Amino acid sequence: MSKRDYYEILGVSRNAEADEIKKAYRKLALKFHPDKNPGDKEAEEKFREAAEAYDALGDPEKRRRYDQFGHAGMGAGAGGYGGGGMNMDDIFSQFSDIFGGAFGGGFSGGGGRGRRVQKGSNLRIKVKLTLEEIAKGVEKKIKVNKLNNCRNCNGTGAKNSNAVRNCSTCGGTGHVTRVTSTFLGQMQTTQVCPTCHGQGTVVTEKCGGCNGEGTTREEEVISINIPAGVEEGMQMAVNGKGNAVRNGIPGDMIVVFEELPHDHLQRDGHNLHYDLHLNFADAALGADCEIPTLEGKAKIHIDPGTQSGKILRLRNKGLPVLDSYQKGDLLVTINIWTPQKLSKEEKATLEQFRGSENFSPSPSKKEKSIFKRWKEMFTGHGD
Ligand SMILES: [Zn+2]
Ligand SMILES: [Zn+2]
Repeated sequence: MSKRDYYEILGVSRNAEADEIKKAYRKLALKFHPDKNPGDKEAEEKFREAAEAYDALGDPEKRRRYDQFGHAGMGAGAGGYGGGGMNMDDIFSQFSDIFGGAFGGGFSGGGGRGRRVQKGSNLRIKVKLTLEEIAKGVEKKIKVNKLNNCRNCNGTGAKNSNAVRNCSTCGGTGHVTRVTSTFLGQMQTTQVCPTCHGQGTVVTEKCGGCNGEGTTREEEVISINIPAGVEEGMQMAVNGKGNAVRNGIPGDMIVVFEELPHDHLQRDGHNLHYDLHLNFADAALGADCEIPTLEGKAKIHIDPGTQSGKILRLRNKGLPVLDSYQKGDLLVTINIWTPQKLSKEEKATLEQFRGSENFSPSPSKKEKSIFKRWKEMFTGHGD
């Protein structure tokens, strides 16, 4: 299903001012508000669509991303991919910002809409990942302790279907309307019913399995697929895997990634760094070395006369870029190891070369300074 352009939905031009966007949304929200269009699925869809468009275009940062990447720029990023659309709660909380307090806390009067669907709380868990796991993506099985719907009562909290009656406080609507006098005149506010907490029904005889809660705490193993290329601190939402709630829908599981340090490699964005400590003789004579990568060992050739500070770039041996086929590089920094202990013979041999012309440093203009190499490395034009 292709999504409509947000500007088109709100009926504004791409360079509309923030105020214009707000006004356009306000108009649509009032027109398609569920209270004004009871039972009209199409109006509800339009209402939801407008709210989503305003959510993106009403926020300067999100709007910039949308202008640049379109709909693709909206889902990804640290906010968590996998979260589909906005729910009604999100939309109504957006209202207090745009309409002032008038709609705060729920719906305006009218009573056209049914009771409000409760959503269980989110479950936050941390997952530790090695760089090897991040490189390939991984399926993790995680044992969590969470609230699930009670099997005895299917999450209703009632002993049986006869043990439920309509809430008398709200008459089954799940919300109560209060009229308050303000200097602007009478104002109607709607709140969640305090007796049934928005559910519209009250349990008269509790389920024995959950003591009327509708939920029981259980251990559950949940398997999640973690895509390649994630980073420390990033979050992923797994819809519907959070805590259950009586007569409602479960919350989400929010997975926060933690990166375990690697024994040899360091991460810098998509690139990896490795410090290679090179034997002085190998650097002078040339050698073949083995270095660790995330896929095992790799052989690299060291040219004779290699200087300390040189950086070798192994293309595509870094980490994959999330949601793309690109990969970073592995950057190997050469560190020449100066011997700290020498035997008598070694000393004597080196002593012979101390005055040798070939041993006296003579960096040519071509020899780049370490600073320059670093600069090139970060701008991506190294060798
Ligand atoms: Zn009630
Ligand atoms: Zn139960």
